[in-house]
Amino acid sequence: MKKTKEKEHYLKEIYKLEVRDQMVTVSGLSVVFGISKSSVSNMVKKLVAMKLLSSAPYKAIELTSEGRELARTIVAKHRLVELFLVEVMGFEPENVHEIAEEIEHIDSPPFFRKVKQMLSQRDIDPHGSPIPDIEF
Ligand SMILES: [Zn+2]
Repeated sequence: MKKTKEKEHYLKEIYKLEVRDQMVTVSGLSVVFGISKSSVSNMVKKLVAMKLLSSAPYKAIELTSEGRELARTIVAKHRLVELFLVEVMGFEPENVHEIAEEIEHIDSPPFFRKVKQMLSQRDIDPHGSPIPDIEF
């Protein structure tokens, strides 16, 4: 997995756990990602150094406000793209997730502004999850 993609993947999954009020830990993430605790721990350290996560011994891992904003942006991109694929392009809802997983990493505010505009303020994705309100 490319570096940016991996970073964004972590932030997104941690955000989803936080939204569900689940405690975020290295062992929990190693189960979610299906990788070793030491790989998770290395990545968490990098994200802490980038000030996107905070962690302390015996405490849960948390997104910083900057990390949370970035995570919300990625989740919004993912869900807007899924909605776009279904509503505008006519895809079946069960076929859009994998495509959105790729497109969510594109860094193009004009692209996502346009997608959002074309969906005229809809805020629920095809799977029933809320789309965070982001100004791209
Ligand atoms: Zn999805």
